[in-house]
Amino acid sequence: MSKNVRVRFAPSPTGPLHIGGVRTALFNYLFAKKHNGTFVLRIEDTDQNRYVEGAEDYIVKSLEWCGIPFDEGQGKNEKFGPYRQSERKHLYKEYADRLIAEGKAYYAFDTAEELDFHRKDHEAKGKTFIYNWHNRLKLSNSLSLSEDEVNAKLEAGDDYVIRFKSPQDETLHLKDIIRGDIKIDTNILDDKVLFKADGMPTYHLANIVDDHLMEITHVIRGEEWLPSLALHIQLYDAFGWEAPEFAHLPLILKPTGKGKLSKRDGDKLGFPVFPLEWKDPNTEDVSRGYKEDGYFPEAVVNFLAFLGWNPGTEQEIFSLENLTQAFDLAKVNKAGARFDPDKTKWFNHHY
Ligand code: GLU
Repeated sequence: MSKNVRVRFAPSPTGPLHIGGVRTALFNYLFAKKHNGTFVLRIEDTDQNRYVEGAEDYIVKSLEWCGIPFDEGQGKNEKFGPYRQSERKHLYKEYADRLIAEGKAYYAFDTAEELDFHRKDHEAKGKTFIYNWHNRLKLSNSLSLSEDEVNAKLEAGDDYVIRFKSPQDETLHLKDIIRGDIKIDTNILDDKVLFKADGMPTYHLANIVDDHLMEITHVIRGEEWLPSLALHIQLYDAFGWEAPEFAHLPLILKPTGKGKLSKRDGDKLGFPVFPLEWKDPNTEDVSRGYKEDGYFPEAVVNFLAFLGWNPGTEQEIFSLENLTQAFDLAKVNKAGARFDPDKTKWFNHHY
């Protein structure tokens, strides 16, 4: 690899780190170490409604227990920090303003009632309402209003969001290291909100601005983010930035193989889906973790490494160092990875 590899694990502190998140962190770590790169931890906490007290601390402690150390973030090598997005919020507005000045984003003043009206109106005609090129001029925003009207609204302190003017009429050719080539018709995309009325950026804006500023070369994350890839690529283009490479990891499936693994599956079947014990600050419910159930961190890491990846050998017991040597993103499966609780026991028994 010619460039200095820089990857990041970017969890949102919306709850305890689930085993899926630990696997994402692990794959990022293995990839970074394999290429003598840097593994960054970045806390994405711009959604104040979903913030959960204690979750960030839990994430850091879980990574520590699993033995997956990060090189930058949370006070370590603060080269591009701070690595908590709430502490960088002044920065994102500048980038949203830049897109507005270049005509690539716009102010939207629509109230919740107005949007609801349009939604219902479309539904009544058997259509789905999408805030996109097709509808944007019918709504209350800086594309449909005169400059004076927009300035009057801004001066009056009316609530607004900033939306991306998603380019249309083209086919986007996306590339994913695991999924391969993907084609997207841009006319199906909506004009996503980049900046919210509460003065915070959305995930999309903060995420790509930070990946750019932190010089991330490879984005390795869960498959649930694949639908955002088209927007992210359009944003990189809009800013004139080179996009990193992307790898979307397969979902972790329930033991039955049907549907995404949830905490409830763990509770029902009596196996943890969290590394450490977690006490929900709202309900006071306590969930056991691997640590409390007597698992060795090495066994958990070995088990997780095999969720969706196969080194292509008969060997099953790997140290973190062996895993690093053998790891290859190109060998990660496209299909979902079935979580088998018996396998966790098997690995623990062999450690
Ligand atoms: N903050 C997002 C999450 O909670 C990160 C997605 C990404 O890695 O881009 O999963």
